[in-house]
Amino acid sequence: MSPSSRDVHEDVAAYALGVLDEEDHQAFERHLMSCEECQAELRELSEVPGLLDAVRQDRSNSLTGTDDDRASR
Ligand SMILES: [Zn+2]
Repeated sequence: MSPSSRDVHEDVAAYALGVLDEEDHQAFERHLMSCEECQAELRELSEVPGLLDAVRQDRSNSLTGTDDDRASR
């Protein structure tokens, strides 16, 4: 109902990217604590780069793993 609560849900993407002003960042964090929708959204958003990292690590691990496997045979 307050005018400052304009589309605060939409700030979740900006928050995940870390492009919010300090003021907006803090305001969103406070909103996040009481908004399960944004918590779920943030989790999905933050899982994307995490997923990429996991894939990369898995790839390089399996590459070296394959090399070791071949060398040991
Ligand atoms: Zn929200």
